[in-house]
Amino acid sequence: MITPFAGGCSCGAIRYECAARPRFSWNCHCRDCQRASGAAYCPVMYVPKTALTITGPAARYASLHAESGRLVSRGLCGDCGSNLFILADLVPDLQGLWAGSLDDPDIFRPQINVWTRSAPVWSTPDPTLKSLDTAPDETQFGALLRDALGH
Ligand SMILES: [Zn+2]
Ligand SMILES: [Zn+2]
Repeated sequence: MITPFAGGCSCGAIRYECAARPRFSWNCHCRDCQRASGAAYCPVMYVPKTALTITGPAARYASLHAESGRLVSRGLCGDCGSNLFILADLVPDLQGLWAGSLDDPDIFRPQINVWTRSAPVWSTPDPTLKSLDTAPDETQFGALLRDALGH
């Protein structure tokens, strides 16, 4: 992936630029991601907060305890409602970027499907990727981080 890369919301009020490659990227099929997106899953990449420059009005954050039991905050544009960011207490130094918000969505490279036990019958998780029923355990998560650095 070429850095920096950029993205933003539908109305253009909030823009972001990221100077580093993602630490990991996945398609999350948990029910929270489905409700937030209105779709089958959330394609999201997590980047170092320190590499992210965000311009425009502050995103509006809504927090809830995810299916994993962990606190997750979703940031969206207060004007147009586009989903942009995810903050997860699992990875406090990273910030999630929704792949659909990228200026070039083709640069998104999901590594894995997670929470596929919640995937709806009308959507098949990408069969070319490894799938996990729920969240990765510590070992699987470590492998994901190493794998992403190798890309
Ligand atoms: Zn907007
Ligand atoms: Zn999720």
